[in-house]
Amino acid sequence: MTGVLFDGPDDDAADRNRPRLPGIAQVLITVKAAPQPSSTYRETVCIAGLRLDRDRLGWIRLYPINFRELDRSDQFPKYSIITVPVTPAPKDNRLESWNPNTSEIVVGEHLAPWKPRKTLIEPWIGGNTCDLIRAAHESSTAPSLALIRPADIGRLDVKPHPGWNEREQRIINEYTSQIPLFGPTDRRPLEPPRFTCTYRYRCQAPTCKGHDGTLIDWEAVTFQRRLKDLTDSEAIRAVRTRFLDEICAPGNDTCFYLGNQAKRRHIFSVLGLWYPKK
Ligand SMILES: [Zn+2]
Repeated sequence: MTGVLFDGPDDDAADRNRPRLPGIAQVLITVKAAPQPSSTYRETVCIAGLRLDRDRLGWIRLYPINFRELDRSDQFPKYSIITVPVTPAPKDNRLESWNPNTSEIVVGEHLAPWKPRKTLIEPWIGGNTCDLIRAAHESSTAPSLALIRPADIGRLDVKPHPGWNEREQRIINEYTSQIPLFGPTDRRPLEPPRFTCTYRYRCQAPTCKGHDGTLIDWEAVTFQRRLKDLTDSEAIRAVRTRFLDEICAPGNDTCFYLGNQAKRRHIFSVLGLWYPKK
């Protein structure tokens, strides 16, 4: 089944059993997840994409990256190709997880929508959520990133975000009260997203009973922030219009970039969306 999920253009390079060695990764950035408070890394984002170099073709997660550095310089627009020195993530045995040396990132070409992107991405669309979940229960090194084409997307639930929990808020308070000796000087508290957005969908598995996929795309959070002058019900309508009616329109080949949680490997969130016209 792993072979099905990673049936990329070059099976040799995509062999998941090869040892993971430090190297220079060339990555097409496809996903930027919303920043989360993290006790180890403070405020960080998960960035993921498709590794294009011969060392290890396939999906890659780059973590941690401090989101304020990114915010300021916008160095990593989606669908840019970057090169970055990487080492296997020390505390995360998911094979796709690597630590980037962010001070040495070189940002290269940015691919326009959609044709040049399709050439690289489309061979990697495949698999289904039911198989991903089953594999994650069976092995801690099962695929943790994928791009799947849902069989149908039933609805998008949009609910007010409950706010950071006590642990998250404590992390934020500690971070914002520190006087930075180096790194980003912007220490305004990280605000929680206004809403949680969850797709209810069925994957391609014939026996699929449906999945809830929480949308944690940074773009979705930024979109919500732009609606600050609207009431909750108006804003919820605007979010649904954009992320369900438009992006998941019948004329689009809508696919979900899925990624699992480090501590709960069987839970896959929607990290981002792929939606060229059919
Ligand atoms: Zn399923």
